[in-house]
Amino acid sequence: MMPDNDLSYILNELGEDREQYFRAIAPPIMQTSNFAFKRVEELRKVFEDEYSNYLYTRGLNPTIDILRKKLAALDRAEDCLVFNSGASAIFASVFANVQSGDHIVSVKKPYTWAQKMFDNALPRFGVNTTYVDGTQIENFERAILPNTKVIYLESPNSWDYALQDLRAVAELARAEGIVTICDNSYSTPLFQKPIEMGIDMVLQSATKYIGGHSDVVAGVLSGTRDMMKKIFDNELLNMGNGVSPFNAWLLIRGLRTLPARLDRISQSTRKVIAYLQQHPMVEEVIFPLDEGFAQYELARKQMTGACGLLTIVMRAKKMDEIVTFCESLRHIMMAVSWGGYESLAIPRCASVQPDQFDAAEREHRMIRFYIGLEEPDYLVADIEQAFAAVH
Ligand SMILES: *Cc1c(COP(=O)(O)O)cnc(C)c1O
Repeated sequence: MMPDNDLSYILNELGEDREQYFRAIAPPIMQTSNFAFKRVEELRKVFEDEYSNYLYTRGLNPTIDILRKKLAALDRAEDCLVFNSGASAIFASVFANVQSGDHIVSVKKPYTWAQKMFDNALPRFGVNTTYVDGTQIENFERAILPNTKVIYLESPNSWDYALQDLRAVAELARAEGIVTICDNSYSTPLFQKPIEMGIDMVLQSATKYIGGHSDVVAGVLSGTRDMMKKIFDNELLNMGNGVSPFNAWLLIRGLRTLPARLDRISQSTRKVIAYLQQHPMVEEVIFPLDEGFAQYELARKQMTGACGLLTIVMRAKKMDEIVTFCESLRHIMMAVSWGGYESLAIPRCASVQPDQFDAAEREHRMIRFYIGLEEPDYLVADIEQAFAAVH
């Protein structure tokens, strides 16, 4: 019997047929654009259904298929597609399920490019979105209209970690025939499995933890075989937004160490949080698996772990204090993204015009940290000297 659900089996073996490539331990990068056929009948069959065999790398490719099998198994999904970015996965998943006149309910403040799609791209095609505070299930109930086709979730989100009760939303949507999509980038399939909770499609930015080394941009979308085929036949082949074989290979490589990296990062994050919580310049630490977190019970119920993202609300009267702190960090770099080996910090005030900064706004004083693979003491010492530089 194949131990399909076993993590080590998925990461080390599933999808890999080493007899086909000289028993090489690492799979080959099938760097080809097209595949040759001996018989017209075979060619005809693939023209009719490109999801059935290798024809052209904009569609299927053997290296990408190894990755797809592993990622689908991790998500407990029938199938998955890998895109050239998380943003592509978001766009394809939503676009495939709406048409002119349809309505979407989205959790408020989703990932930036999900929000831009809802606000700018989809209204041009007559598709409008209502945002709801996703912490209360009643808000979804109230927002659903007769023409609602998609409920878009992100749990937790990647700034304040607001959660949605995934089982409750899935149940509500099922009853109304609405497709549910959840951005699972924060948790990865190791710490949260939305499909097991009844969500129809789960996506993540593979740029973050799956790649894990800040050198690939990619996205994953998982769901039923029928849904993945529909999206492959339309959005993926039409937009040509699939991942490349080389990037797929890097993601397979990243996956091998995902559990070890998340383990290390989870432990280091706890240590950094313990330090931050006692620092007088820190008003609040926001982290979903902290006992003081507003939705701690729900987080415990639907997540088996939390990653290296956390947010502090810094005590500051002026923006300069936050700027000085961030610019004084010597090892923790200021950059977007996360999930790599390197620790990062990003202040919310970078998205606020200096004359608009208001210290009374808690959000303006937020700084998001990503804890990477460094020694936790090294990171704490860096944060300590940066706080000391402020006064
Ligand atoms: C980064 C990110 C995305 C987008 O992924 P890309 O790979 O950058 O396109 C989507 N959702 C969340 C929560 C992210 O952090």
